[in-house]
Amino acid sequence: MNKFMTIAVEEARTGIRAGHGGPFGCVIVRDGEVIGRGHNEVVRRKDPTCHGEVMAIRNACKNIGSFDLSGCELYTTAEPCPMCAGAIMWANIAKVYYGCNIADTDSIGFRDKQFYEAPEDISEELDRDACLEVFEEYRNIKGKRNY
Ligand SMILES: [Zn+2]
Repeated sequence: MNKFMTIAVEEARTGIRAGHGGPFGCVIVRDGEVIGRGHNEVVRRKDPTCHGEVMAIRNACKNIGSFDLSGCELYTTAEPCPMCAGAIMWANIAKVYYGCNIADTDSIGFRDKQFYEAPEDISEELDRDACLEVFEEYRNIKGKRNY
């Protein structure tokens, strides 16, 4: 078994035994070295964004002092949900390895599948002009770095 996926599984097991949340553990690796790890803590932290991947990304970024995880690989016990897939892209992670797939996740009662198949459109434009003023202010800030 892959040594990094072994750590991800250990994270997931630690999480479920402690009652932190679902069986989702994650490890982030750079140049063959673990730089971040985490597991689902949605229940423990009462925060729906605390998926294993997000927790591992937060941990890795804290450990290296950057929001940019370019060149890193991510190992996770389950195929990333849309939120985590987005976070992985924002972090510039280069490669993802997952254990269980979306059908497996569905089979233990999680909703990922419905988010992929029929995402409900709940968004509507509101007060764009006021928001554009802040965009314009940001546009004029010197030395900023978009990510
Ligand atoms: Zn997720």
